[in-house]
Amino acid sequence: MVMGSSKRILLVFSDIDAAKLLKKSLLSPAGHHVTITSDYKEAEKVVSFIRPNLLILSDGLEGVDSIKLANRLIIEQPTLPIILFSKKSTVINPRDVLNLGLVDWLNPPIDVESMRDAIERGLKRSDDWEKWLEKESKIHTGQLLETVDELETLLRVGRTITGKLELDNILTSVVEAAVKLTNADEGCILLKDFESGELYMRAAQNFQEDFVQTFRLKAENTIAGKVIETGKPVFINKPKSPQKIKTSYLVHSLIYVPLILDGQTFGVLGVDNQGIGKTFKQRDIKLLSALSDYSVVAIENTRLFSETEHERNNFSKILNQIEDGVVVYDDHGKIILLNNVVRKALHLENSVQIGRNIDDVFVNSDWLNAIKGVGLDQNGIEVIGKDDRIYQVNLTSISGIGKIASLFDITNLKDLYNLKTDFVNTVSHDLRSPLTSIIGYLDLIQRVGNLSDEQKKYIENVNFSVHSITSLINELLNLGRLEVIKDNQMEEVALIPTIQYSVEGFRNQAEKRSQTLTYKIDKKLPTLMGNPIQLRQMMDNLIGNAIKYTPENGKVEVTAKRLGEKVVIEVSDTGAGIPAEEKSKIFEKFYRLKNVDGSIQGTGLGLAITKTIVGNHQGKIEVKSILGKGSVFTVILPIVG
Ligand code: ADP
Repeated sequence: MVMGSSKRILLVFSDIDAAKLLKKSLLSPAGHHVTITSDYKEAEKVVSFIRPNLLILSDGLEGVDSIKLANRLIIEQPTLPIILFSKKSTVINPRDVLNLGLVDWLNPPIDVESMRDAIERGLKRSDDWEKWLEKESKIHTGQLLETVDELETLLRVGRTITGKLELDNILTSVVEAAVKLTNADEGCILLKDFESGELYMRAAQNFQEDFVQTFRLKAENTIAGKVIETGKPVFINKPKSPQKIKTSYLVHSLIYVPLILDGQTFGVLGVDNQGIGKTFKQRDIKLLSALSDYSVVAIENTRLFSETEHERNNFSKILNQIEDGVVVYDDHGKIILLNNVVRKALHLENSVQIGRNIDDVFVNSDWLNAIKGVGLDQNGIEVIGKDDRIYQVNLTSISGIGKIASLFDITNLKDLYNLKTDFVNTVSHDLRSPLTSIIGYLDLIQRVGNLSDEQKKYIENVNFSVHSITSLINELLNLGRLEVIKDNQMEEVALIPTIQYSVEGFRNQAEKRSQTLTYKIDKKLPTLMGNPIQLRQMMDNLIGNAIKYTPENGKVEVTAKRLGEKVVIEVSDTGAGIPAEEKSKIFEKFYRLKNVDGSIQGTGLGLAITKTIVGNHQGKIEVKSILGKGSVFTVILPIVG
């Protein structure tokens, strides 16, 4: 009997007493754990639960044929040795006994010796199975551990590639991994110098440093050269006749796999053994191929990175060369780009601003608002830099990137503009006094003596011209004043009387030209915040023009109504109209229509003044016109400016 170790034995007996006797007399004294049952279902459960070392099965079980039960239990536990007890009368097919691989088949009368012998054989078979299983699983676990180790190494190299950018480190890791995984003596990466056609060593493991440094090899007629030419790996295992990889450099076994990018082989990853008798396995080719893919990715990444770096440098040079300031930030306000003009304007330190938030970099609220575009209109926003220069900031959105704030230095323009305004104001002012005296003298000449008709006509012409110059000067001065409107000049203006008085002021003029002048004002027209003098002037300019540029017997109509939080004023006429291409120009200073009748007096400043007034009130002015039919000037003013 197998002694020294207690085993699990299951007795499935129809006669429980016989089973107990067997347990007591033979099995328990030998130290075995015995489970007894007569229920076949329980037997099935016990087998799957305790995995017995031996099953002793009798026939005559209730509800099941013992051979069938044995079959089922063998499927559950294929290594289960079975001893079958059957009554002499039971007919059992010997083929079934063979198929089941029973340890023994016993019939009464059973002597203790054959019983003991059968049990011993059964337990020995169980032991043999266990030992075999243990050996097999050791072999498989070993292979599995080796595979896990290989995968871990590949994973580590993969991480090196994504984590590092220094090509040297990555390629060294790849070669190290190649040597480790294939258990090679040495390994290297050889790259082809396409200019000279030579191979050089880009990374190496276990080679002498000076060998690596000086390694240059003509690709032709070499093993590496062949791999580069064909794009196919080379696998040599010739322990007895060493191969030459370089003059007087002999190896006994080697694997070279190609490094291929876009179909072109540009190098090899290789491992070799100098030691006699050392060989590689076929699967090592697969491992090296995986590693070669890593090196290709790393080399390509580095190339792309340096290309991007190069472009970034160029871009940054250009950005810093341009004369305008540029700030680019993403949708969260993080600065992506910022050039030297901005740094200089705000005395910001060099290069630290990239990646920071605009709120932290532009600490001055005027600047922050300008960069964010708060209060931005088509004229941009003006800000003053620490360098005392004036910048106009404009904003552009780029979907997927964020916003670009561009800064133009308008200091010189501003100076010029101020110079021009001062000049116009001074000249106009200084011209006014001599003109007044000319008008006075003209008046006097007519009073002091009789003048001939011709003299009267000349004086009338002079008078006309002097009045033209005077109104031009007045309008210029007026425009100069209008361009600077102060908040304290704003008050609540009742629009109804403003419009009515303006219309009535032109009543005579219209009648003289036999024109119909009417107005229609919404009785509930609200008051609005504005400058009463300017608003009156705006109405005068529009109504005056309508009468001036409408022929006799024409019609001029003024309407005013409220539309939401806005007031809409329209001045329409049945005049000559304005050509479409000149519509935007009539608001420019001194612009007069090309087709305008020369006899109609004007300076070309009225609409420029009107547009400035509308702008001062945060409003909008537009014109619709049909040539030969008339024009409609529409002014839209917000009620609260
Ligand atoms: P002007 O002193 O010449 O009237 P404005 O600035 O008021 O200057 O107008 C500019 C030009 O626009 C005018 O010279 C005229 O040619 C054109 N214009 C203005 N209003 C009208 C109108 N109601 N109908 C036709 N043309 C007009």
